[in-house]
Amino acid sequence: MNIVLLGPPGSGKGTQGQLLAERFDLAQLSTGDLFRQILQDPDHPLYDELQIVKQGKLVSDEVVNAVVEDAIKKLGNAKGIIFDGFPRTVAQAQALDKMLNSMNKRVDVVLDFNVAQDVLLQRLLGRRVCPDCKRVFHIKQRYVECPDCKVQLVTREDDNEEVIMKRFKEYNEKTAGVKEYYLDSDCAYINLTVDDADTTPEEVHQQIISELAKRGLAQ
Ligand code: ADP
Ligand code: ZN
Repeated sequence: MNIVLLGPPGSGKGTQGQLLAERFDLAQLSTGDLFRQILQDPDHPLYDELQIVKQGKLVSDEVVNAVVEDAIKKLGNAKGIIFDGFPRTVAQAQALDKMLNSMNKRVDVVLDFNVAQDVLLQRLLGRRVCPDCKRVFHIKQRYVECPDCKVQLVTREDDNEEVIMKRFKEYNEKTAGVKEYYLDSDCAYINLTVDDADTTPEEVHQQIISELAKRGLAQ
C-alpha cells in the first residue's frame, strides 16, 4: 500500500506517517527530512540549490523528483511507502505516478489533513523535533530530550512566524491543484478534519484507521 499524505505545514503528516508506518510496516519518505539532511553537508551537490528551503519556498520540481526517485530506489522492496511532503505540485504528482507505474505500483491512498490555520500556527511555533529519529513533540509536553534517543530536541530553522507564513502561502498557491489531481484519480481519497488543538495524535490515528477499514484497507 502506497500512501500520500497531503496537508499544510503542521497538519500532522510526520506524526501520523510514523504511526501508520509502524502499524502497516511501511517505509516513510519525507522530502523535508531528506532536504534537511542534505543541508547538513556543504559538500553535497544540491547544497546551494536547497538553501531556498530556509525561506519557506518550494524546491524546484526537477530537484525534488530526482531526490525522490533516488530515495524510492534505495527503499528497494519495501511493502509500501508513505510519502510525506511529496507531491506538492501537480507536476510532482504526475512524476510520482510515472515512477510507481514503472514498478507496477500506484498511489493507493491519499490522506488529506485539514486543520485550521490558527491551530497550525500554534503547533508549529511550539514544535520541537528529535534530530535523530525525527519524532515530533510540542513544548507543552515539556520534553527536553527525546525519550527514545536521549538527545536534545531542536527547533527547526523554518519554524518561525515569518517563514511559517511563507510556507502556508506556498501550500495554498501550489498544492491545491494536487487535491484535484487525486480526486480525479481512482485512489482512495480520505479527508480528515482536525479542528481542535487538543485532539491527540492517537485519536487522529484511530480516525484514519476507521476510514481505511470502511474501504477494506485496514482491520
Ligand atoms: P512542512 O510540511 O512542515 O512545511 P517539510 O518538512 O515537509 O515541512 O518541508 C520543509 C521544506 O522543504 C518546505 O518548506 C520546502 O521548502 C521543502 N520541500 C519539502 N518537500 C517539498 C516538495 N515536495 N516540493 C518542493 N519543496 C519541498
Ligand atoms: Zn529520537
